[in-house]
Amino acid sequence: MTIAVVGAGLGGLALARVLHVNGIDAVVYERESSRDARGQGGMLDIHSGQQALREAGLIDQFSAIARGEGQDMRLLEPDGTLLLHEDTPEDAPLDRPEVDRADLRNLLLDSLPEDVVRWGHAFASAGGGLLHFASGSSAAYDLLVGADGAQSRVRALLTDARPAHIGQNVVEIGIPDIDRTHPDLAAMVGRGNYWVLGDGLSLAAQRNGDGRVRIGISFYNTAEDWFATSGIPFDDPPAARARLIDLLPGWDSRFTTLIAACDDTVVPRSITTLPAGLTWPSKPDVTLLGDAAHLMPPVGEGANMALLDGAVLGLALAAHPDDFPAAVREYEGEMFERTGAAARMSARIQEMLTSPDASRRVLEFFRPGTHRR
Ligand SMILES: Cc1cc2nc3c(=O)[nH]c(=O)nc-3n(C[C@H](O)[C@H](O)[C@H](O)COP(=O)(O)OP(=O)(O)OC[C@H]3O[C@@H](n4cnc5c(N)ncnc54)[C@H](O)[C@@H]3O)c2cc1C
Repeated sequence: MTIAVVGAGLGGLALARVLHVNGIDAVVYERESSRDARGQGGMLDIHSGQQALREAGLIDQFSAIARGEGQDMRLLEPDGTLLLHEDTPEDAPLDRPEVDRADLRNLLLDSLPEDVVRWGHAFASAGGGLLHFASGSSAAYDLLVGADGAQSRVRALLTDARPAHIGQNVVEIGIPDIDRTHPDLAAMVGRGNYWVLGDGLSLAAQRNGDGRVRIGISFYNTAEDWFATSGIPFDDPPAARARLIDLLPGWDSRFTTLIAACDDTVVPRSITTLPAGLTWPSKPDVTLLGDAAHLMPPVGEGANMALLDGAVLGLALAAHPDDFPAAVREYEGEMFERTGAAARMSARIQEMLTSPDASRRVLEFFRPGTHRR
């Protein structure tokens, strides 16, 4: 019985690892040519997903690469008013540590036998127990798991649902090696999260494990084609930074200084989601996990849910090794409920971030003793 997983992201790898520790083989087909073919982006806030790493037998290794101090939080208003400054004590539990996405992916990759991940295999279509790749080659499967992320191609085998724009457009910029290049700005941002929340706009800066500070400037309640009309010249980074500063009228000079100090990486990102609570009629030989199944607003749940999906499906398959359809039904029942709740919570946080009084509402959310996540 062949389990074929499409996508070597966090969810697909967590599945392969939990199957491996339970003595079940799987093959993971990944379209990238190698683990280093593409930058893996910034930090992830891992909380409920730690349970999946426990099931994968990797929690100690995770604790070694997790950054507890990444939980530090500074929250400000555009005029520079500091609303919240929380530093994580040395002995604080690792409830929601930050981890570099590449480190977490490498941890999962290194925990699998060499031949499990087949690089350079871009899924194109499937049917009749055969996977077809863009290269023209094919492979047999008994169970196909689509773990191919937000733009999943496997998804179409189960549902017509497609990601839709949620009125948020983000420009990603950053400052490399900030301790050496801009120690004053390094001190200002601190060890973790630095958020400035305005009316319809936010700036989120975060220190990464490699010393880069990544900055996302979000424009809320904007149309899907907003980048085309924004006047941001993405092919001219210095002019793009100047335009970004123009788009933040009245913001304190310390924030515009942060933007001016960025390097020439300027990346537009449109935010899309699947409908919260998406389900589909179960099929015996194909299922989805992670962003392919439940793409949510980027407020800290997606990677956790992807890891948990992988672990829950892996355990269900281990419990029903001769009955994949039963394992899929069991997994989907749990997954639909858990991720539906996470998607609805993410939508509420997203609504809070896009509201005119976002900073005060987020302050209330994070205040100790309140309903902090
Ligand atoms: C800026 C940003 C910050 C985020 N921060 C957080 C956070 O702090 N906490 C959190 O929980 N979540 C966070 N998320 C969400 C999180 O990154 C995703 O939910 C998570 O990575 C989903 O994992 P996945 O395995 O489903 O998909 P992915 O990690 O996207 O992996 C999909 C894999 O499939 C491969 N693939 C795609 N198409 C094909 C194909 N046709 N054939 C073969 N392979 C294919 C891709 O190359 C990729 O390797 C953030 C997201 C963004 C954009």
